[in-house]
Amino acid sequence: MSSMSHTRISFKRAAVILLCLVSIFTLASCGAVKMEQKQIFAMDTVMTLTAYGKKAGEAVDAAASVIYSLQAELDPELPTSTAYAINHANGANVVVSSQIAKMLSTAKTVYDRSDGALDLSIYPVVKIWGFTNGHYYVPTNEELSMQLIRKAYDKMILTSYPATGSYSVSFPADTEISFGAIGKGCAAENAISAMRQAGAESGIVSLGGNVQTLGSKPDGRKWTVTIQDPNNTANWVGTVKVGEMAIVTSGSYQRFFEFDGNTYHHIINPQSGGPVSNSLLSATIICEDGTMADALSTAMFVLGEGRALNYWRTYGGFEMILITKSNQVICTKGLIDVYTPNEAAGNYKVKYSE
Ligand code: ADP
Ligand code: MG
Repeated sequence: MSSMSHTRISFKRAAVILLCLVSIFTLASCGAVKMEQKQIFAMDTVMTLTAYGKKAGEAVDAAASVIYSLQAELDPELPTSTAYAINHANGANVVVSSQIAKMLSTAKTVYDRSDGALDLSIYPVVKIWGFTNGHYYVPTNEELSMQLIRKAYDKMILTSYPATGSYSVSFPADTEISFGAIGKGCAAENAISAMRQAGAESGIVSLGGNVQTLGSKPDGRKWTVTIQDPNNTANWVGTVKVGEMAIVTSGSYQRFFEFDGNTYHHIINPQSGGPVSNSLLSATIICEDGTMADALSTAMFVLGEGRALNYWRTYGGFEMILITKSNQVICTKGLIDVYTPNEAAGNYKVKYSE
């Protein structure tokens, strides 16, 4: 009897001790949020995917998988891709996903508003310069003219069929488009959605010049995103503090080649067919929509300082950081409490624009 009651007390004690241990363990694990990080190579870019929370592992895997599938859909040289189907349609209608339809129409909005500064049908010109395969070449004016006449983004017919929820697109025969200027923006956006769906509490993806965030940092504070120094890519000119946002930079320093003492970079002025030449070294866009941010970063870089600021004043919906060849950092006024210059980054002058 006595031995039995002794045993019972021991059980109770053990249960209490166990309960205490469980609560201590739970408290400890509350402090350290689980983090998972994955690095992948896709769309010609090293990408870092980071997620936080109990589902962090599933979240980074899901993000990687949507990026790979978008890459397969957008690669214009892959015969099974949607881009290839569009470019070989010979003027016929091509059925496209709602995602491709959204990309095409975002690009059309920016095309219309920027007077064609962003033009996905500039692809034949990008190809002739060798930016698609690294076989760089400086084309003659005649060669450029022959490709420039193939631009036809204004002739795109994008049709939606609400009854079935499907879409189709057509271009004149001989048109070739590429999603190079907006693909990574859409990939970042999809990666963040995939992380959210997988149950991540917060996360951040960095795809070259494209950064997009999910929620806030695990400690509840805002994310700090660096803005690269175009004159020294190992450094940064400043940082922005943001919540859930896309931050996308286009710059002449990101992809270029040198020939005969001249430098040729990958962002093309669709008017001339040559690399953009204006006062800018980079254009960064900060807005919620990753695809729009990417479309705008390319377009604003092409437009140059004055016309980019006019675009922002007219249409708004985003904030912008322009870095000029004369070391000016021009921020739109919504960034006054968001942007912090890096004191160690040379003599940049910050200006806020109305
Ligand atoms: P990155 O690809 O370095 O992130 P961007 O988003 O600015 O930079 O896109 C540049 C890419 O878009 C080029 O590599 C090229 O494939 C394509 N491109 C270049 N100029 C234009 C343009 N004016 N309009 C649309 N696409 C362009
Ligand atoms: Mg872009």
